[in-house]
Amino acid sequence: MDEQTARREIVRVGKLMYERSYVVSSDGNISVRLDDGRIVATPTQVSKGRMNEEMLAVTDMDGKPLTDKRASSELAMHLLIYREREDARSVCHAHPPHGSAFAVAGLAIDQPILSEVILTLGCVPLAEYGTPSTDELTEAMRPLVKHHNALLMANHGAVAFGADVWQAFDRLETLEHTAKIAILARALGGAQNLSPDAIEKLIDVRERAGYLDERARCQSCGYLHETKITCPTGERNDERRGDAARTSATNATTNGAGKISLTRDELVELLSQAAQLGK
Ligand SMILES: [Zn+2]
Repeated sequence: MDEQTARREIVRVGKLMYERSYVVSSDGNISVRLDDGRIVATPTQVSKGRMNEEMLAVTDMDGKPLTDKRASSELAMHLLIYREREDARSVCHAHPPHGSAFAVAGLAIDQPILSEVILTLGCVPLAEYGTPSTDELTEAMRPLVKHHNALLMANHGAVAFGADVWQAFDRLETLEHTAKIAILARALGGAQNLSPDAIEKLIDVRERAGYLDERARCQSCGYLHETKITCPTGERNDERRGDAARTSATNATTNGAGKISLTRDELVELLSQAAQLGK
């Protein structure tokens, strides 16, 4: 993408993010990686609803400013994503209320409740808390970036990325919409999860249609463990860190209708804990 197009599209997405209440005040930031490797990014301390093309900053891949405009202090998060994901050409970070409610509650968006979401986004893990604009935050995100297309950041907000600014925005929008539906379903007595068989079929469809490739099989969501979908890189278990495990423990009790489902690993752990108590 050329610089002028990137500037125009970032301003359009910024207006949408503001109008949809994904950000307030000067929250959030958007960037695009140009074909020549330079980064066009939203400036610091400007409302995303009131930007114009001239306000945007341009940096190199190390975040060094190439003009007199200063990029957002959260640019480090964008640069991490560009480094870890060659395919990522745009990053959108915001604080959408429903997605951020999950992040504040310490929950990932990783329940298999909506077929479209399994097809186009996959699960959204929760990165541990890290102070914004420091290495703490980027280190918490790093292990999750490779296999996911959107992340929640504990007690902070959400970030999504894609092949262009519209795919990044669409993924952010799907994240927020899914979080909203999950919260509403809970008020109606809880969502019914899709079965492992239905999930396997959806993953087959998404790979054949090219919505998501095999790397998404390595995502850190509990429901992939219940299917016969194997992770081609063998990295799935490494990513099940404390926060993911905690979320899947929550899953075990939230399936509605008094039903409790556990993955095999969770069952084995529970039984071995019970055996310890009996000693
Ligand atoms: Zn933020």
